[in-house]
Amino acid sequence: MDRKLLDRVLGQVSRPVRYMGNEYNMVEKDPEEVSIRFAFAFPDVYEVGMSHLGMKILYHLMNEREDTFCERVFAPWVDMEEKMRENRIPLFTLETRDPVSEFDFVGFTLQYEMCYTNLLNMLDLAGIPLLAKDRTKQDPFVIAGGPCTYNVEPLADFLDLVTMGEGEEQISELLDLYGEWKKKGGDREFFLRQAAAVPGVYVPQFYDVTYRDNGQVESVKPNTAAAPDRITKRIVRDLDQTYYPDRMIVPFMDIVHDRIVLELFRGCSRGCRFCQAGMIYRPVRERSMDKLLELAEKLVKSTGYEEISLSSLSTSDYSRLEDLVKQLMERFRDKRISLSLPSLRLDSFSRDFIAEIQKVRKTGLTFAPEAGTQRLRDVINKGVTEDDLVRSVTDAFVSGWNTVKLYFMIGLPTETEEDLRGIAELARLVTDCYYGLEQKKRQKGLRITVSTSSFVPKPFTPFQWEPQNAMEELREKQRFLRKALRMKHVEYNWNDPELSFLEAVFARGDRRLGAVLLSAWKNGARFDSWADQFRMDCWMDAFRRNHLDPGFYVYRKREREEVLPWDHIDVGVSKAFLWKEKEKAGRGERTPDCRVSCSGCGIRKTWEGIC
Ligand code: SF4
Repeated sequence: MDRKLLDRVLGQVSRPVRYMGNEYNMVEKDPEEVSIRFAFAFPDVYEVGMSHLGMKILYHLMNEREDTFCERVFAPWVDMEEKMRENRIPLFTLETRDPVSEFDFVGFTLQYEMCYTNLLNMLDLAGIPLLAKDRTKQDPFVIAGGPCTYNVEPLADFLDLVTMGEGEEQISELLDLYGEWKKKGGDREFFLRQAAAVPGVYVPQFYDVTYRDNGQVESVKPNTAAAPDRITKRIVRDLDQTYYPDRMIVPFMDIVHDRIVLELFRGCSRGCRFCQAGMIYRPVRERSMDKLLELAEKLVKSTGYEEISLSSLSTSDYSRLEDLVKQLMERFRDKRISLSLPSLRLDSFSRDFIAEIQKVRKTGLTFAPEAGTQRLRDVINKGVTEDDLVRSVTDAFVSGWNTVKLYFMIGLPTETEEDLRGIAELARLVTDCYYGLEQKKRQKGLRITVSTSSFVPKPFTPFQWEPQNAMEELREKQRFLRKALRMKHVEYNWNDPELSFLEAVFARGDRRLGAVLLSAWKNGARFDSWADQFRMDCWMDAFRRNHLDPGFYVYRKREREEVLPWDHIDVGVSKAFLWKEKEKAGRGERTPDCRVSCSGCGIRKTWEGIC
């Protein structure tokens, strides 16, 4: 790598810090002294990738190994890409600035479907053949993990390996295996065969997919004895015994979440029917409070951060949350360290608790009722009521808050105009709660932000068989809400239905979509989740060229018997349970929280005694 050239180029692009590394707590090693080099690749810009907890964990975990050096690489922003191509600078890592093509592994984390073209672009910038079948012994193994891998079929042609589920134990087993293979020698396929035997590892090229005349998948079957019929995701049983970093890289620039992240637990016991995370990350496993306090002490010391985020899918469900918050506040009060909690559930929000957090610094308050009426909240199994909302926001206003964010989804199965009107009515109710208080009891300047996202049916949810609303229908619903929410103190945000449409295509897509991805990327698609970069024309042209109708993936109601492209992946939650949940949704019947009673989702069958 020509360092002088790179330095000159960095002087010509926006936010050069994105590509410079050398941050506090960055790991430094001599590449000559390790036998495995792993480029951890995040297919979005630095400030998004650096906020990702999985990357923080796996980066430090791999670097604990003496034989491995894990480095980071992010998608170069469009100005940097242009300069790199112009000056023939290959994709490089932040730690050593060495070309990614020289590494043993390039490991992508796939957090959302609209980053897929960035993955292709990064491989291309690295000079690594895009198709797995074209790679030779000189090329790295391209591996992927993260939530999108639960249906990774649209990327199957581009990936050598996929790790299903939680990576802490699995990645170590894979690196051990690789170390042995590298010492002994052998061709790529030999390593892949051995890797396919590691529980939770999926090697897409070892599976053949056949299709019916009507375009549906007929079967997905292994084409070698080395590959199992079904790949079961990995989980760690005991979070206290599982690696968690006691330091985190502190960036020089603002990133999306610039603070310490304490992961309280994994999984979610609620069972919302639209939520993929709630199903694929089952079961709930908590970190003990002692462990969390110990980690917090270490992380505050090692990073100097003044904010700790208490993270998990449903933070207010942590069994000792109030205790934990009290203890953290006591320990760090002198240091003026604040706590932030992501989206709170309406039913577990108490005035004492919020007063405790407020003692240090006020953080934003977000509530996610998800649907405007009780009927629809029952359909989606979101167990919160209007009374919960009234109680919570009133408590918040009394405790000094004047800004509230409300999140909803539109386009949910069975939704009617009544449900949309309910969204506006809830916003009005929040306003009434505020004005219902004596003037001296509330802060001035009420602000309510209502945000809606469009429902995207996701694999491994009870709604995986459901169609998505047509784009025009979603636009009409947004227009309706724009009018209905025209009220004082209320701001309304909505998302682009075109993006939700593509997300729905790729979330439930099959292998044939690989060709579409490739065409869209060649047409110039990059950073599709960024509104200023997204170009629908690149995508529609790609579908046309490859004779695939995107509506086939989005607007079709699937029958129970249909083979789904992800049926060979086992997340522990059974298909029978998901179907039962779908039927209960149709009847508006609720399913209890796992903490109240077990509904037999299948997890206990796979991991005995875990919940
Ligand atoms: S097996 Fe029962 S308790 Fe465990 S995650 Fe499934 S429904 Fe919940």
